Amino acid sequence: MTKVIITGSKGRMGRALLDCAPAHGELEVVGQIDQGDDLARVIQQGDVVIDFSSHTATATIAELCAANGKALVIGTTGHDDAEKTRITRCAARLPMVWASNYSTGVNTLFWLTRKAAEILGPGYDLEVVEMHHRLKKDAPSGTAKSLAEILAAVRRQQLAKVARHGREGIVGERTHEEIGIHSVRGGDVVGDHTVVFATNGERVELTHKASSRDTFAHGALRAALWVVRQPPGRYDMQDVLGLK
Ligand code: NAD
Repeated sequence: MTKVIITGSKGRMGRALLDCAPAHGELEVVGQIDQGDDLARVIQQGDVVIDFSSHTATATIAELCAANGKALVIGTTGHDDAEKTRITRCAARLPMVWASNYSTGVNTLFWLTRKAAEILGPGYDLEVVEMHHRLKKDAPSGTAKSLAEILAAVRRQQLAKVARHGREGIVGERTHEEIGIHSVRGGDVVGDHTVVFATNGERVELTHKASSRDTFAHGALRAALWVVRQPPGRYDMQDVLGLK
């Protein structure tokens, strides 16, 4: 039986994880941590921590997992560069799955996006559009960034140099190189992502729409069961699903 501790347990994703956990007979939730609770006091009881708290908490959680020999599933998004560096450093000491999106459907979208970019080639304008609920704190979504990174990688571009976040005013004609990224916020939308490939005379759009957080929760629980059997290193959901 794999023993799981959930951080961010009172949040939207934390509650979805707790609801979905009983469907995974091989794991047991032994700890629920939210603001004000002390993970250090319970970490020895678990095999793996699933973190859906806040990007500001994840590096400290990763360091605690590394110090205690525990595996980690990172669900948080929006980490700054300093946080990313601290988290990445821990990957030498513990197995971690770090994915911007745990849904099987979105990971299929990642695969299709790479394939479409390769097939369509350089003659298409690339744009990523995402929509989330009004309470989401970071923008663009981690998934939109992952999609844009896939597109940039196929074109051998550095995303930081070609990303175009929204447009306003007299921005001039669209350049061929840029990859547009646009965030829409409103209502209770769980997560929509569309990748647009547009050229003269035609347009291809790949869209995924999540209508329940359960899809992320089941993916993260599956990742937890998988990661406890891996050697130290950084993995993503494509590794868990065997898509590499
Ligand atoms: P939320 O605000 O509903 O929940 C976050 C919870 O974490 C809250 O209960 C909050 O009190 C708690 N928290 C904050 N700081 C903490 C700390 N230092 N220690 C312990 N608990 C703390 O948010 P949410 O919608 O559940 O999303 C949580 C995170 O997961 C966000 O970063 C979001 O972008 C990400 N997310 C990722 C995926 C994915 O598939 N990777 C899917 C959905 C959401």
